[in-house]
Amino acid sequence: MAGKESLLAQLSALGIHPRKGLGQNFLVDPVHRGRIVAAAQLGPEDAVLEIGPGPGVLTELLLQQAGRVVAVELDDRLIPFLCARFAAYPNLSIVHGDILKLDVTGLMSDPAIAGQPAAPPSYKVVANLPYYITGAVIPHVLEAGQPPVLTVVTVQREVAERMIARPPDMSLLALGVQFYCNAQIVDRIPAGAFYPAPKVDSAVVRMRRRAEPAVSGVTGEQFFRVARAGFGQRRKQLRNSLAAGLGVPPPQAEAWLRAAGVDPQRRAETLTIDEWGALAKAVQA
Ligand code: SAM
Repeated sequence: MAGKESLLAQLSALGIHPRKGLGQNFLVDPVHRGRIVAAAQLGPEDAVLEIGPGPGVLTELLLQQAGRVVAVELDDRLIPFLCARFAAYPNLSIVHGDILKLDVTGLMSDPAIAGQPAAPPSYKVVANLPYYITGAVIPHVLEAGQPPVLTVVTVQREVAERMIARPPDMSLLALGVQFYCNAQIVDRIPAGAFYPAPKVDSAVVRMRRRAEPAVSGVTGEQFFRVARAGFGQRRKQLRNSLAAGLGVPPPQAEAWLRAAGVDPQRRAETLTIDEWGALAKAVQA
């Protein structure tokens, strides 16, 4: 199944047409498939969670390089297709379900599914993500009880750029990614590499889990409580957005900002992770 024609022929023989509502843009370009899988730096010791295998174009490469693959697919039409296509691979578990409703840690620590005898599980995530769930899936994975050591996802190019952004273009998404991981764009994929071609280009982001979060001295919960408040009203000065988001009078928010060494007139997207950390600590104190 190297090219577009062969993939389409197999799918249409089964009466399967891509469903827009499920974000089904299949990657038909073998060069970019190879780059996504190479970015995961897999070896026989690796267990991989693939989100949305679709017709299995990445799954095939993952199975050749990883020790174990767990592929979660929501579209019931594709399950028999995948089971038949990969019948010869005992190291693949196909799970029919919605990734957002599954406990990722539970899944990857279940020996019957992920083949891992030991808990906590160590695994990688590889996915050409359905665009409509990108925003929800990334925190779902990165904030799992036992998160992946490495995550490689294909997302819309603009989303990829937001994930790795720096001040003055920070967002809650960038903080969510960079608090837990070192992230970089490892490939750019033109829309024409997919079938059907989406309206926008894509990029592949690799996120390597940090040994410790980017900020010490506060929990993720404390950090993101303050960050969410700050980003609650993005166009406003932090003094006001923080006050509204945390439910305190503006002078109190201003005092916390000054204690953290942050000018109260600045806007949320201009703060570095370290400044958010200092602010979260000031609020805790
Ligand atoms: N991996 C294939 C590829 O690279 O061509 C397919 C990628 S396609 C962009 C996204 C896949 O995710 C589709 O097969 C779709 O059915 C599946 N999907 C959509 N929503 C899902 C969900 N909530 N949980 C699991 N899979 C989902």
